[in-house]
Amino acid sequence: MKAVLAFLIGRPLVAILIAALVVGVLLLNTRRQTTPVTHRVEHVQLTDAQQSKLGAQEYAKTLRQSRAAIISSGPQYAEVQRVAGRIEAVASRDKPDFVWRVSLIRKNEANAYCLPGGKIVVYTGILPLTRNDAGLATVLGHEVAHATAEHVAERIERNHLTGVAATIIAGGVAFTPGQFLRIQALLGIGSSLPFSRSQESEADHIGLVYMARAGYDPRQALTFWERMQRAMRGQEPPEFLSDHPSDAHRVDRIRGWLPEAERAYRKVAA
Ligand SMILES: [Zn+2]
Repeated sequence: MKAVLAFLIGRPLVAILIAALVVGVLLLNTRRQTTPVTHRVEHVQLTDAQQSKLGAQEYAKTLRQSRAAIISSGPQYAEVQRVAGRIEAVASRDKPDFVWRVSLIRKNEANAYCLPGGKIVVYTGILPLTRNDAGLATVLGHEVAHATAEHVAERIERNHLTGVAATIIAGGVAFTPGQFLRIQALLGIGSSLPFSRSQESEADHIGLVYMARAGYDPRQALTFWERMQRAMRGQEPPEFLSDHPSDAHRVDRIRGWLPEAERAYRKVAA
C-alpha cells in the first residue's frame, strides 16, 4: 500500500487519471434520476428511502428542540395545513414514497424549508411576507421542489465524488460512500449544504408549476417575488431570501416559465 501511495504522490498525472477512473466507476453505481417538470437527468446515490430517513431524523430533532413553540391550532396553523396539503398532493405524484408532514413553529424568522423525503417546517415569521395562500404556495412550491428534485442528495453526491477524487490525488485512501456519509452527518454538512444557483432556479421553475397544479394562480408568484425584491431594497434581506440568492433576473426567468404554469393552472381550473 505504501509503495502504491508513494507511486501516486510521485506521479500526480497518474493519480489524476486513477481518480477520474474511480469517479467514473462510482458514477456507474449511482442512480439516474430525472427531475420533475424540468426533466433534467441527475446522478444520486441515496435512495428515496435513505433520503426519507435522513430527513425524518433531522425533522424529529427540530421538533424536539422547538417543542414549546409548535403551533397546532388557530388560523395560521389552518392556513399552513391547507396550502401545504395541496402542494404535497401535487408533489406526491412525483415522489409517491415520500411521507409528507408539515409543522408550523412560532419563531420570528422569515423562513421555511422542506427536508429530503418530504418533511416541511414553516416559521411564523414568514407569514407576514407571504401574506396570503398564493404567497405561501409560492414559497412551499419552491421548497418542496428542492426535495422532489433531490437537490440535497445531488449536492452530497457531487461533494462525495469531488472528495474521493481529491483524496486520491492527494495520495490518501479513498473511503466508501457510506463512510463519507457518516463523516458528513457528523459534521452536519448534509442539512446545511447550500443549494447552487442552478438548483435555486430549478426550484423556482418546478415550484411555479407545482403551485399551478395545486390550483393557485401562478401570476401570484410574480407578485410575491416582486414584493420581496422591493422589501430587500437597501435592507438586510429576510432569512428566507439570504438562503435563496435573489437577483434581478429571477423575476424575468419566472415570467418566462409562466405560460407553461398557466397551462397547468387552466387544466386544474377547467
Ligand atoms: Zn431554494
